[in-house]
Amino acid sequence: MYLFKSVHQLNHFLKSFYSANQSIGFVPTMGALHQGHLSLMEASLAANDLSICSIFVNPTQFNESSDLEKYPRVPGLDIALLAEIGCDVLFMPPVTEIYPPGIQLASPIPPPSLINVMEGQFRPGHFEGVVQVVKRLLDITQPTRLYMGQKDYQQATIVQWMIENQKLPVELVVCPIEREKDGLAMSSRNVRLQAELRPIAATLYKTLEAVKIRLKADNIESLQHFAINQFRQAGLRPEYFEIINGYTLQPLSIIDTTDLVVACTAVWVGDVRLIDNMILQDPG
Ligand code: AMP
Repeated sequence: MYLFKSVHQLNHFLKSFYSANQSIGFVPTMGALHQGHLSLMEASLAANDLSICSIFVNPTQFNESSDLEKYPRVPGLDIALLAEIGCDVLFMPPVTEIYPPGIQLASPIPPPSLINVMEGQFRPGHFEGVVQVVKRLLDITQPTRLYMGQKDYQQATIVQWMIENQKLPVELVVCPIEREKDGLAMSSRNVRLQAELRPIAATLYKTLEAVKIRLKADNIESLQHFAINQFRQAGLRPEYFEIINGYTLQPLSIIDTTDLVVACTAVWVGDVRLIDNMILQDPG
Protein backbone atom coordinates (compact mmCIF):
# COMPACT_ATOMS: atom_id res chain seq x y z
CA MET A 1 0.00 0.00 0.00
CA TYR A 2 1.26 3.47 -0.91
CA LEU A 3 0.89 6.19 1.71
CA PHE A 4 0.81 9.82 0.60
CA LYS A 5 0.50 12.91 2.78
CA SER A 6 0.78 15.61 0.14
CA VAL A 7 -1.55 16.45 -2.75
CA HIS A 8 1.46 16.87 -5.02
CA GLN A 9 2.79 13.35 -4.33
CA LEU A 10 -0.64 11.78 -4.80
CA ASN A 11 -1.30 13.64 -8.06
CA HIS A 12 2.10 12.62 -9.40
CA PHE A 13 1.34 8.96 -8.59
CA LEU A 14 -2.16 9.03 -10.11
CA LYS A 15 -1.11 10.59 -13.47
CA SER A 16 -0.34 7.26 -15.15
CA PHE A 17 -3.69 5.79 -14.00
CA TYR A 18 -5.64 8.69 -15.53
CA SER A 19 -3.79 8.48 -18.84
CA ALA A 20 -4.29 4.70 -19.01
CA ASN A 21 -8.03 5.25 -18.38
CA GLN A 22 -7.95 3.02 -15.32
CA SER A 23 -10.93 3.13 -12.99
CA ILE A 24 -10.34 4.66 -9.57
CA GLY A 25 -12.50 4.01 -6.50
CA PHE A 26 -12.33 6.48 -3.63
CA VAL A 27 -13.39 5.97 0.01
CA PRO A 28 -13.21 9.16 2.12
CA THR A 29 -13.10 8.58 5.90
CA MET A 30 -12.15 10.28 9.14
CA GLY A 31 -10.25 7.22 10.38
CA ALA A 32 -10.71 5.05 13.49
CA LEU A 33 -11.70 2.46 10.92
CA HIS A 34 -14.15 -0.37 11.51
CA GLN A 35 -15.90 -2.98 9.35
CA GLY A 36 -18.31 -0.29 8.05
CA HIS A 37 -15.44 1.61 6.45
CA LEU A 38 -13.79 -1.61 5.30
CA SER A 39 -17.00 -2.72 3.55
CA LEU A 40 -16.78 0.43 1.41
CA MET A 41 -13.16 -0.39 0.60
CA GLU A 42 -14.12 -3.98 -0.27
CA ALA A 43 -16.79 -2.69 -2.67
CA SER A 44 -14.22 -0.38 -4.25
CA LEU A 45 -11.58 -3.09 -4.57
CA ALA A 46 -14.09 -5.38 -6.30
CA ALA A 47 -15.07 -2.80 -8.94
CA ASN A 48 -12.01 -0.65 -9.70
CA ASP A 49 -8.44 -0.92 -11.00
CA LEU A 50 -7.16 1.25 -8.15
CA SER A 51 -8.70 1.99 -4.74
CA ILE A 52 -7.84 5.02 -2.62
CA CYS A 53 -8.83 5.59 0.99
CA SER A 54 -8.43 8.99 2.63
CA ILE A 55 -8.20 9.61 6.35
CA PHE A 56 -8.80 13.24 7.23
CA VAL A 57 -10.61 14.53 10.30
CA ASN A 58 -12.18 17.55 8.65
CA PRO A 59 -12.29 20.50 11.09
CA THR A 60 -14.84 22.46 9.02
CA GLN A 61 -17.62 19.92 9.57
CA PHE A 62 -17.40 19.96 13.38
CA ASN A 63 -19.65 22.57 14.92
CA GLU A 64 -18.22 21.92 18.40
CA SER A 65 -14.48 22.11 18.98
CA SER A 66 -14.70 19.62 21.88
CA ASP A 67 -16.22 17.03 19.48
CA LEU A 68 -13.29 17.59 17.09
CA GLU A 69 -10.78 17.18 19.93
CA LYS A 70 -12.46 14.02 21.25
CA TYR A 71 -12.68 12.41 17.80
CA PRO A 72 -10.74 9.09 18.00
CA ARG A 73 -7.43 9.00 16.13
CA VAL A 74 -5.60 5.68 15.69
CA PRO A 75 -3.49 6.02 12.51
CA GLY A 76 -1.29 2.99 13.24
CA LEU A 77 -4.26 0.62 13.51
CA ASP A 78 -5.94 2.18 10.46
CA ILE A 79 -2.85 1.70 8.30
CA ALA A 80 -2.59 -1.97 9.37
CA LEU A 81 -6.29 -2.65 8.59
CA LEU A 82 -6.12 -1.02 5.17
CA ALA A 83 -2.88 -2.79 4.23
CA GLU A 84 -4.39 -6.13 5.28
CA ILE A 85 -7.54 -5.66 3.19
CA GLY A 86 -5.48 -4.75 0.09
CA CYS A 87 -6.12 -1.00 -0.20
CA ASP A 88 -3.85 0.39 -2.92
CA VAL A 89 -3.38 3.98 -1.76
CA LEU A 90 -3.89 5.74 1.56
CA PHE A 91 -4.06 9.53 1.46
CA MET A 92 -3.52 11.01 4.93
CA PRO A 93 -3.06 14.75 4.50
CA PRO A 94 -2.48 17.34 7.21
CA VAL A 95 -5.03 20.21 7.40
CA THR A 96 -2.73 22.57 5.46
CA GLU A 97 -2.80 20.27 2.39
CA ILE A 98 -6.61 20.31 2.23
CA TYR A 99 -6.98 23.96 3.20
CA PRO A 100 -3.75 25.69 2.14
CA PRO A 101 -3.58 29.14 3.75
CA GLY A 102 -4.77 31.85 1.38
CA ILE A 103 -6.56 29.50 -1.04
CA GLN A 104 -10.21 30.26 -1.79
CA LEU A 105 -12.16 27.03 -2.28
CA ALA A 106 -15.34 27.37 -4.28
CA SER A 107 -17.85 24.85 -2.99
CA PRO A 108 -21.54 24.79 -3.80
CA ILE A 109 -24.17 25.51 -1.14
CA PRO A 110 -26.93 22.88 -1.18
CA PRO A 111 -30.55 24.02 -0.77
CA PRO A 112 -31.73 24.67 2.83
CA SER A 113 -34.33 21.89 2.44
CA LEU A 114 -31.43 19.39 2.34
CA ILE A 115 -28.92 20.91 4.78
CA ASN A 116 -31.10 22.52 7.44
CA VAL A 117 -33.16 19.45 8.36
CA MET A 118 -32.32 16.59 10.75
CA GLU A 119 -28.52 16.60 11.28
CA GLY A 120 -28.31 20.12 9.87
CA GLN A 121 -30.79 21.42 12.41
CA PHE A 122 -28.74 20.12 15.35
CA ARG A 123 -25.29 20.62 13.81
CA PRO A 124 -25.36 24.05 12.12
CA GLY A 125 -22.72 24.40 9.40
CA HIS A 126 -22.01 20.65 9.38
CA PHE A 127 -23.08 19.94 5.80
CA GLU A 128 -21.44 23.06 4.40
CA GLY A 129 -18.22 21.57 5.83
CA VAL A 130 -18.97 18.11 4.43
CA VAL A 131 -19.66 19.48 0.94
CA GLN A 132 -16.49 21.57 1.10
CA VAL A 133 -14.23 18.66 2.03
CA VAL A 134 -15.83 16.11 -0.31
CA LYS A 135 -15.57 18.56 -3.24
CA ARG A 136 -11.92 19.24 -2.39
CA LEU A 137 -11.10 15.53 -2.05
CA LEU A 138 -12.88 14.72 -5.35
CA ASP A 139 -10.93 17.50 -7.09
CA ILE A 140 -7.70 16.01 -5.73
CA THR A 141 -8.41 12.33 -6.48
CA GLN A 142 -10.72 12.58 -9.54
CA PRO A 143 -12.14 9.09 -9.00
CA THR A 144 -14.45 7.09 -11.26
CA ARG A 145 -16.54 5.97 -8.28
CA LEU A 146 -17.06 7.44 -4.83
CA TYR A 147 -18.05 5.08 -2.00
CA MET A 148 -20.12 6.32 0.94
CA GLY A 149 -22.27 4.64 3.59
CA GLN A 150 -26.03 4.64 3.98
CA LYS A 151 -25.20 5.07 7.69
CA ASP A 152 -24.98 8.81 6.93
CA TYR A 153 -28.12 8.89 4.80
CA GLN A 154 -28.49 12.67 4.70
CA GLN A 155 -24.81 13.11 3.86
CA ALA A 156 -25.03 10.68 0.93
CA THR A 157 -28.14 12.47 -0.40
CA ILE A 158 -26.41 15.86 -0.19
CA VAL A 159 -23.26 14.55 -1.90
CA GLN A 160 -25.46 13.11 -4.68
CA TRP A 161 -27.04 16.57 -5.03
CA MET A 162 -23.57 18.12 -5.29
CA ILE A 163 -22.44 15.63 -7.96
CA GLU A 164 -25.50 16.44 -10.07
CA ASN A 165 -25.39 20.20 -9.38
CA GLN A 166 -21.69 20.46 -10.29
CA LYS A 167 -21.96 17.86 -13.07
CA LEU A 168 -19.02 15.98 -11.56
CA PRO A 169 -17.90 12.94 -13.59
CA VAL A 170 -18.13 10.49 -10.69
CA GLU A 171 -20.62 7.79 -9.71
CA LEU A 172 -21.72 7.70 -6.07
CA VAL A 173 -22.06 4.16 -4.72
CA VAL A 174 -23.97 4.02 -1.43
CA CYS A 175 -23.17 0.91 0.63
CA PRO A 176 -25.43 -0.72 3.25
CA ILE A 177 -25.05 -0.12 7.00
CA GLU A 178 -22.71 -2.57 8.74
CA ARG A 179 -23.96 -3.46 12.22
CA GLU A 180 -22.65 -5.14 15.37
CA LYS A 181 -24.29 -8.45 16.40
CA ASP A 182 -26.80 -6.59 18.61
CA GLY A 183 -27.81 -4.35 15.69
CA LEU A 184 -25.91 -1.23 16.74
CA ALA A 185 -24.65 0.52 13.59
CA MET A 186 -20.84 0.49 13.54
CA SER A 187 -19.38 3.90 14.22
CA SER A 188 -16.00 5.32 15.19
CA ARG A 189 -17.79 6.91 18.14
CA ASN A 190 -18.89 3.51 19.56
CA VAL A 191 -15.49 3.07 21.25
CA ARG A 192 -16.56 5.84 23.64
CA LEU A 193 -19.66 3.87 24.73
CA GLN A 194 -19.25 2.30 28.17
CA ALA A 195 -20.11 -1.43 28.28
CA GLU A 196 -23.21 -0.90 30.46
CA LEU A 197 -24.64 1.51 27.86
CA ARG A 198 -24.36 -0.96 24.97
CA PRO A 199 -27.70 -2.74 25.55
CA ILE A 200 -29.39 0.67 25.77
CA ALA A 201 -27.75 1.78 22.51
CA ALA A 202 -29.03 -1.38 20.81
CA THR A 203 -32.61 -0.12 21.37
CA LEU A 204 -31.98 2.24 18.46
CA TYR A 205 -31.92 -0.55 15.88
CA LYS A 206 -34.65 -2.60 17.58
CA THR A 207 -36.96 0.42 17.47
CA LEU A 208 -36.25 1.09 13.78
CA GLU A 209 -37.09 -2.54 13.04
CA ALA A 210 -40.33 -2.31 15.03
CA VAL A 211 -41.28 0.88 13.16
CA LYS A 212 -40.71 -0.88 9.84
CA ILE A 213 -43.04 -3.70 10.89
CA ARG A 214 -45.72 -1.21 12.01
CA LEU A 215 -45.49 0.96 8.87
CA LYS A 216 -48.53 -0.53 7.15
CA ALA A 217 -50.76 -0.45 10.23
CA ASP A 218 -49.91 2.90 11.87
CA ASN A 219 -49.91 6.53 10.78
CA ILE A 220 -46.71 8.59 10.81
CA GLU A 221 -47.55 10.57 13.92
CA SER A 222 -48.17 7.49 16.02
CA LEU A 223 -45.00 5.84 14.66
CA GLN A 224 -43.03 8.89 15.79
CA HIS A 225 -44.60 8.79 19.25
CA PHE A 226 -43.91 5.08 19.46
CA ALA A 227 -40.23 5.50 18.56
CA ILE A 228 -39.62 8.46 20.88
CA ASN A 229 -41.32 6.59 23.77
CA GLN A 230 -39.25 3.47 23.14
CA PHE A 231 -36.07 5.54 23.20
CA ARG A 232 -37.00 7.40 26.38
CA GLN A 233 -38.07 4.22 28.20
CA ALA A 234 -34.73 2.61 27.33
CA GLY A 235 -32.77 5.62 28.63
CA LEU A 236 -31.83 7.15 25.27
CA ARG A 237 -32.25 10.89 24.80
CA PRO A 238 -33.68 11.43 21.28
CA GLU A 239 -32.84 14.58 19.30
CA TYR A 240 -35.05 13.75 16.36
CA PHE A 241 -36.90 10.85 14.78
CA GLU A 242 -38.16 11.65 11.28
CA ILE A 243 -39.94 9.63 8.64
CA ILE A 244 -38.91 11.23 5.39
CA ASN A 245 -39.06 11.07 1.63
CA GLY A 246 -35.70 9.46 0.85
CA TYR A 247 -35.01 11.76 -2.14
CA THR A 248 -36.10 15.16 -0.82
CA LEU A 249 -35.39 14.51 2.91
CA GLN A 250 -38.69 16.22 3.71
CA PRO A 251 -40.88 14.74 6.47
CA LEU A 252 -43.83 12.74 5.16
CA SER A 253 -47.32 13.17 6.57
CA ILE A 254 -48.87 10.30 4.62
CA ILE A 255 -47.26 7.43 2.78
CA ASP A 256 -47.89 6.62 -0.84
CA THR A 257 -46.91 3.17 -2.13
CA THR A 258 -44.58 4.85 -4.65
CA ASP A 259 -42.59 6.78 -1.98
CA LEU A 260 -39.05 5.92 -0.91
CA VAL A 261 -39.61 6.06 2.86
CA VAL A 262 -36.72 6.34 5.32
CA ALA A 263 -36.68 6.68 9.11
CA CYS A 264 -33.74 8.79 10.35
CA THR A 265 -32.83 9.41 13.96
CA ALA A 266 -30.22 10.84 16.32
CA VAL A 267 -30.07 10.04 20.02
CA TRP A 268 -27.74 10.58 22.94
CA VAL A 269 -26.64 7.71 25.11
CA GLY A 270 -24.56 8.99 27.99
CA ASP A 271 -22.32 11.61 26.38
CA VAL A 272 -22.19 9.86 22.99
CA ARG A 273 -24.36 10.97 20.08
CA LEU A 274 -25.51 8.16 17.77
CA ILE A 275 -27.25 8.37 14.41
CA ASP A 276 -29.02 5.59 12.55
CA ASN A 277 -31.59 5.10 9.82
CA MET A 278 -33.60 2.44 8.04
CA ILE A 279 -35.27 2.28 4.64
CA LEU A 280 -38.87 1.46 5.55
CA GLN A 281 -40.24 1.24 2.00
CA ASP A 282 -38.34 1.09 -1.27
CA PRO A 283 -40.56 1.06 -4.34
CA GLY A 284 -37.41 0.16 -6.37
P1 AMP B 1 -16.63 8.60 8.73
O1 AMP B 1 -15.24 8.13 8.96
O2 AMP B 1 -17.51 8.46 9.92
O3 AMP B 1 -16.69 9.97 8.09
O4 AMP B 1 -17.26 7.60 7.67
C1 AMP B 1 -16.66 7.41 6.41
C2 AMP B 1 -17.62 6.68 5.52
O5 AMP B 1 -17.94 5.41 6.10
C3 AMP B 1 -18.95 7.42 5.34
O6 AMP B 1 -19.36 7.34 3.97
C4 AMP B 1 -19.89 6.65 6.25
O7 AMP B 1 -21.24 6.71 5.85
C5 AMP B 1 -19.34 5.24 6.12
N1 AMP B 1 -19.74 4.45 7.29
C6 AMP B 1 -19.61 4.78 8.59
N2 AMP B 1 -20.15 3.83 9.38
C7 AMP B 1 -20.65 2.88 8.55
C8 AMP B 1 -21.33 1.64 8.76
N3 AMP B 1 -21.64 1.20 9.98
N4 AMP B 1 -21.67 0.91 7.67
C9 AMP B 1 -21.38 1.35 6.41
N5 AMP B 1 -20.74 2.51 6.15
C10 AMP B 1 -20.37 3.27 7.21
